[in-house]
Amino acid sequence: MLESALYRSAVALRTALIGKELIRLNTPLSAGPLPEVGSTIEEVRCHNKSIEIVWDDGMVLETQLRLLGGWHLYRQGEVWKKPQDSAHVVVEVDEWVAACFNSSSVETYRDFDPRRHPLLGTLGPDLRSASADIEECVDRMMGYEERDETISEVLHDQRIMVGVGNVYRCEILWACEIHPWAQIGTLKRAECRELVQLAHEMLQSNYVHPAHKSAEGVTHELAAYGRQGKACHRCGDLIRVAHHGEASRVLYWCPGCQTAHQPLVRPNFTPLSIDRDGMYVDQHPAAQMFMQDVISARGNSQHNTH
Ligand SMILES: [Zn+2]
Repeated sequence: MLESALYRSAVALRTALIGKELIRLNTPLSAGPLPEVGSTIEEVRCHNKSIEIVWDDGMVLETQLRLLGGWHLYRQGEVWKKPQDSAHVVVEVDEWVAACFNSSSVETYRDFDPRRHPLLGTLGPDLRSASADIEECVDRMMGYEERDETISEVLHDQRIMVGVGNVYRCEILWACEIHPWAQIGTLKRAECRELVQLAHEMLQSNYVHPAHKSAEGVTHELAAYGRQGKACHRCGDLIRVAHHGEASRVLYWCPGCQTAHQPLVRPNFTPLSIDRDGMYVDQHPAAQMFMQDVISARGNSQHNTH
């Protein structure tokens, strides 16, 4: 598959899959971890002749595509151009079925995130439990050792609280109008409590009702997560996306209204340095903004690994 075709495939897959829950997954894999049905697709990455689909629990499905390999995208019920049983991988979500043909290898792995598997220290309260100790979480946030750590990282730190996945992390920060890179040391106790209480409420309501419940006033749709380039329900500004943190998970936020405790300098900021090939740039302003964020994030991760 040519590099340009690979990029176009990834762009199409992003449009169809990101933010959607997995309904069905067929792979040739008989061992190893697999993304679970019901988990949300967070990202589609494309590099070195491979396409990777990333779920919100950190699972990654990697498909190597040499000259003959490729991903096809079909609407539910649409007639396929190739026999369905010749697909190596099938990823089904609401409205769409993505199928991978002739991949030279298929693998799954989990993005390493040390904060999800703390080696030292005790786990924080599990917010999926109705009786979770909110004040204990707040105490742990107020006593967080690295005072310049971002609130986004702290919400994923299992030593502080357990159960807040990436979708809820973005949603509660939006709901509380807090900037995702706010330093934990700048937050007041009441603000920490509000974040934890909201996370607890959201996790509880989803436990009872499997359908997503989002921030107050926004029904049947998430407010920030998966909405890059779309208008914010509160202020009308365009929701943005970027990579952040040790595990480089994607973060969605509104630059218009999530301004509380906004740091002056973005952590690990690296200026845009990647050459742009006009061929790959979607002319829609929202798409361009998305590509800028992706390019910026890629610059960051390269910077961090050197
Ligand atoms: Zn907004």
